This record gives sequence, C-alpha cells and structure tokens, in this order.
Amino acid sequence: MTPARERPIVAIDGPAGAGKSTAARAVAERLGYAYIDTGAMYRCVALRCLRGGVDPADAGGAAAVAEDIDIEFQPLSDGGQWVVMDGEDVSAAIREDGVSDAASHVSAHARVREVMVQRQRELGHAGGVVMEGRDIQTNVFPDAEVKVFLSASPKERARRRAGDLRDRGLPVPSVEELTRSIAERDHRDATRATAPLAAAPDATTINTDGMSIEQVVDRVAALAGAVEGDGCSA
Ligand code: C5P
Repeated sequence: MTPARERPIVAIDGPAGAGKSTAARAVAERLGYAYIDTGAMYRCVALRCLRGGVDPADAGGAAAVAEDIDIEFQPLSDGGQWVVMDGEDVSAAIREDGVSDAASHVSAHARVREVMVQRQRELGHAGGVVMEGRDIQTNVFPDAEVKVFLSASPKERARRRAGDLRDRGLPVPSVEELTRSIAERDHRDATRATAPLAAAPDATTINTDGMSIEQVVDRVAALAGAVEGDGCSA
C-alpha cells in the first residue's frame, strides 16, 4: 500500500526539447517543491565515462561508473540548481552535445538504470517534488499523484535546443543536425528494452507547440493544486 503523502509527486516526462526542464523548474518554484532533473544524473554518468575513457555503450563499464558516482543537486535562489558530481560543479559540462548522446547510451543499460532509479526514489518518495525525466510516471513513481507528458514537434524541439545551447554559451549545431540527433535519441529512448520513453495511460499529455512557458506552468500547477492535500493519501 502506498504511504500517505501530504504533497504530491509531480512526474513530468517527455522527449528532449519538449520544454520539460523549463516547465519543471518553474512549477517547482511556484509550488515551493524540490526539483529533480533525472536526465542530469544520466548525464553525469555519461560525462564520467567520457572523461575516464569508458565507452558509454559498454554496459559493464557504465554500470561500474553508476555504482561509484556521487551526484548531488544544490538548489540556487532563482529556482535553478547546480549539479555536483564527485564534488565538482558539472552543471555546464553535462550540457555539451557529446554528453547528450553518451547519456542516451548509458541510460539504456539495465544496471545503470537500476542504480539511478533507486537514488531517484530515495530523493522523491516523500512528495513535494517535481521530478523530470523519461520514465518517472511509468517506472520510478508509477504512483505519482500528478503525471504529465510534454511533447512538441521535432522542429520546435530542435529550435528550443539551439536556444538552450546558445543561452549557455555552448557551440550550436545546425538545426538539421540537431533535428537528426534528437530523432536518434528519441528512437533509442523509445525502443530500449528497459523503461522506454512512454506516457503512462493515466498521464495528461500536453503538446507545447505554440504555448508559452507560463501557459504550460499554469496547467501543470493547476493539476498539482487539484490533488494537493486530498488526493495524496490514496
Ligand atoms: O533530459 P535530458 O536530455 O537531460 O536526458 C539525457 C538522456 O538521459 C536522455 O536522452 C535519456 O536517454 C536519458 N534519460 C533517461 N531517463 C530519464 C532521464 C533521462 O533515460 N529519467
């Protein structure tokens, strides 16, 4: 039986570039909840593999990294956060395009997922949390009180990814190249054997094309507000 939670778990899943991070951060800030970016955890594993000469496609090597790595989130006053890996601030390093690709490889290994999912459950089980990823509503917290699946057209997602990289001062590939790498990642994420990207049957799907971030945040916050305090002890 699910233990009672006073405040919900808000699970936000969806493909790369659907607006998850921006929406999840803003929803967490508005509700006063913690924000957990699970993609950052897989990115840390990927970064350490790349730095240590471990092939991200090597299941055993990536699993050894996942078992040993220390990952912490340090909240910032503006709602953002630092991602700290083994004591080092890697918030910028994990966003580079090569790391995105490697993260999608390491995240396909069952043992890597097992270790990360265990940590995610420890971080979120008490509720009052917005957790963003690919498998939060289907696998990490299938009992989450609020399940949102964000999507957007491939072109819109490539455009947003370009803006995101530009804002971070990182190299920006062409939109064609970004669209191709997003499509490849989508395919890997959706077809992997362990916890593939998918909306839960009871999720609310929101296509964010043409929506402002405020509109997305309003919808998600309203869903959380509707269950806070009553639907959370079911
Ligand atoms: O969300 P983000 O693009 O930072 O995630 C990087 C990669 O990590 C994704 O492409 C996906 O392969 C993986 N991931 C995952 N499960 C999650 C979060 C991210 O498999 N819950």
